[in-house]
Amino acid sequence: MKAARWYAAKDIRVEETTVPAPNDNQIKIEVKFTGICGSDLHEYTHGPQLIPVEKPYLLNGHQGTTTLGHEFSGIVVEVGKNIKRVKKGDRVTVEPIFRNPDSRFIASGEYNLSEPLGFVGLTANGAFAKYVVVEDYMVHKMPDNMTFEQAAIVEPAAVAAYAIHQSGMKMGDTVLVTGAGPIGLLTVQVALATGASKIFVTDISKNRLKKAEEIGATHTFDARDKDIPQKIKEVTGYGVDIFIDAAGVQASFDTGINSLRNGGTAILVALFAKEVTHNALNQTLRELTIKGTAAYRNIFPQVIALINSGRLPVEKLITSIISLDEIVEKGFEALTKDPSEVKILVDINR
Ligand SMILES: [Zn+2]
Repeated sequence: MKAARWYAAKDIRVEETTVPAPNDNQIKIEVKFTGICGSDLHEYTHGPQLIPVEKPYLLNGHQGTTTLGHEFSGIVVEVGKNIKRVKKGDRVTVEPIFRNPDSRFIASGEYNLSEPLGFVGLTANGAFAKYVVVEDYMVHKMPDNMTFEQAAIVEPAAVAAYAIHQSGMKMGDTVLVTGAGPIGLLTVQVALATGASKIFVTDISKNRLKKAEEIGATHTFDARDKDIPQKIKEVTGYGVDIFIDAAGVQASFDTGINSLRNGGTAILVALFAKEVTHNALNQTLRELTIKGTAAYRNIFPQVIALINSGRLPVEKLITSIISLDEIVEKGFEALTKDPSEVKILVDINR
């Protein structure tokens, strides 16, 4: 079968590889659509980040050249003999995070905190291919009228939904999202669906701010504007209740902290590439809560139900659908160069 395989930064090859076979506890899926994620882009531009190159991934022994792709949908074509949750022919989407069965975090349900962190498509071969094999606990059945395109966006939507859930956001709250990439925009959609009254969005790309307005952001700002906290306070009176950092740089962090109301909550969802400095006394005196969120846990069923209800129209974020052969030029390169691109899906059968 054909697959998009990572060899090194700037070296992804679409080439023939072997069709994977499931063990007794695995499920083989014929892939329909796979989204290109920001983390795939990181692997492409300056990887390896999560791909195990130096030593094998502890939970499966995977190492080196890796078929990318962890945001996907498809049809079950084969199941291992211990599998009871799904059967051949089921339409599924996948929660690609690995769980270490020996971790203390499994019993508490906090499986996203079990180490070492790993995902299908990064620490195992993924879904930029005709077939992929996943662990039994990763699959979620799709509702009958959900499209395969929608189902391929459940995974990044779960990142956004988990961030909003962990923020403790309440109906009527005001929210600031810094960064209008796919995760930032999905966070805007989830905040709206959860009952936010005002949603502020910052980004340096005009196109992405326009997209944010199209999907329901009430106020948008060029991220380079130094007066964002004051402007937000003019609108809200005392600052936003919730700040979600989906940009992950010093400037976005500062803008967000300075825009929060006293007693407000910041959620760090972005993968910060560099360290940021932070005024701890300011946090103490203003009683700010600052929390990180790592991927997601226990939220796929709710996200699937919400997308299926029509109240989380994630398909609006799809800007291109391409073939596997086009993945480098029209996928990775386009996302690097063209700020009007948001979510690009690969149609594996095109
Ligand atoms: Zn992703």
